[in-house]
Amino acid sequence: MNRSTMLAAALQQQEFDVVIIGGGATGLGAALDAATRGCSTLLVEQFDFGKGTSSRSTKLVHGGVRYLAQGNIKLVREALRERGFLLKNAPTLTSTQPFVVPVFGWWEKIYYTLGLMFYDLMSGKLSLGKTHYLNKKQTIQHLPTINPRKLKGGILYYDGQFNDSALCAALAVTAAAKGAVLLNYTKATGFIKEKGIITGVQLEDQLGGRQLTVKAKAVINATGVFTDAVLNMDEDSHDVIVAPSQGIHLVIDPVFFPGKDALMIPKTDDGRVLFAVPWQNKVVLGTTDTPVDTIEIEPRPLGEEIEFILEHFNRYTSATVRRSDVQSVFVGLRPLVRANENASTALLSRDHTLVVAPSRLVTITGGKWTTYRKMAEDAVNNALFVSKQKDKSPCITRELPIGNDAEKQCMMQEWIAAQPALAARLHPAYPFTRAELVYAVRNEMAMTVEDFLARRIRLLFLDARAAVATAPAVAEIMAAELHQPDSWASEQVNLFNELAQQYILA
Ligand SMILES: Cc1cc2nc3c(=O)[nH]c(=O)nc-3n(C[C@H](O)[C@H](O)[C@H](O)COP(=O)(O)OP(=O)(O)OC[C@H]3O[C@@H](n4cnc5c(N)ncnc54)[C@H](O)[C@@H]3O)c2cc1C
Repeated sequence: MNRSTMLAAALQQQEFDVVIIGGGATGLGAALDAATRGCSTLLVEQFDFGKGTSSRSTKLVHGGVRYLAQGNIKLVREALRERGFLLKNAPTLTSTQPFVVPVFGWWEKIYYTLGLMFYDLMSGKLSLGKTHYLNKKQTIQHLPTINPRKLKGGILYYDGQFNDSALCAALAVTAAAKGAVLLNYTKATGFIKEKGIITGVQLEDQLGGRQLTVKAKAVINATGVFTDAVLNMDEDSHDVIVAPSQGIHLVIDPVFFPGKDALMIPKTDDGRVLFAVPWQNKVVLGTTDTPVDTIEIEPRPLGEEIEFILEHFNRYTSATVRRSDVQSVFVGLRPLVRANENASTALLSRDHTLVVAPSRLVTITGGKWTTYRKMAEDAVNNALFVSKQKDKSPCITRELPIGNDAEKQCMMQEWIAAQPALAARLHPAYPFTRAELVYAVRNEMAMTVEDFLARRIRLLFLDARAAVATAPAVAEIMAAELHQPDSWASEQVNLFNELAQQYILA
């Protein structure tokens, strides 16, 4: 997957059956869906694939135990089904994760045991493992640093886990292999219309500055929290759809939370769920739910959000994690679908919403990562319907393998055999190699130091200080691969260092 080739393909194509705006989970899912139905497909992403919310999730492929407590059975059932499909279709990017809910009284024991057994039952044949009750001793064996005070026992249940931005890259590569044209750093800036119907999209290449226009039979707006900005490009008096809500995560060393099991606190002081989840040899703590007015691509954590997570984690465990122990803090904005003005964002629906405008623009938003495939299917179904493209095949993504790990490993081994220096680590404490960097540039369209350190490997999210230390070596290798001058490399290092400061807690 090479950006220059993709750009040339976008310029050459007379008209696309489907143009998708937004390269997060939803848009990439739609690109794969459309391409595998035989549509000529173009996806444009204004930054890098997954740079928005889709790289900033809690990394859970889940039905959403919380939504069960809210009585939203339909949403949970659908998400559990999608969880099952994703774990089967992307086995190298997903895994089964055991969770333990600690209980402190007999009522909690009955309530959560029954609830979580029902949760597992709902997944039917796609169950990831049986839910069962643990006594106090067993709970401590599963969660060695749990605070034993007043602890009665725990409930063990299973959900899925994944690497979100790696899945974005895998979706992009798979869609490209099926014939889709995908362009990162390409912004949709306007629509071309004939008699009120969208017939094309104006684009701006964010790297080369070039303006281009593509013709489109159907257009899908899959822009997450930017949904309303794109709707404004279509019609400036539309109803606002998205109510953004911020969630932060703190990443800490597993010394504070050893073991393989995750901790799930079903009800924090503000009624939210709090997780401590082992991930990539670190532990992710999160999250929060803070309504925000401003939509930024790099949202910042609030002091009270950080304190909230630290206070709760330290209360439920015997650990004392301080701000200085946090190795990275990452923040995302949920594209929640707007309800009435007074509803708290924690209560807003996690279901997705699909809107077709009079211009035939199909907008899909809300939902969650876990349900991206279903969202994509719904979006493409509607796009093909309104644009009267009846000759396209039905959706096949339920059983479509995603990613090409075997091919990637094979290719990297060949390069290393020819050039053993490529096996060297980029940072002594982390396993990422130079070969992975070269692979990301040549095959996954990594265009900047940030693309690689934040999203192709996750070093910025795992250990922001280590990522800063690695940036100069990454910039040098990338400059050679991308035929860029030394000045590009030093500018990249400066830009990356500036960004990384947001991921470091002073
Ligand atoms: C804190 C937090 C934790 C979460 N945890 C989980 C979890 O554990 N499991 C789960 O299933 N879900 C989780 N979610 C939800 C999930 O991450 C989101 O629902 C999902 O990532 C949304 O994907 P998207 O593609 O709709 O939006 P995005 O990922 O934001 O993608 C939209 C893209 O559109 C691009 N764009 C915008 N305007 C334009 C334009 N004009 N031209 C070109 N491109 C444009 C943006 O740059 C962006 O990359 C979480 C969300 C948050 C915030």
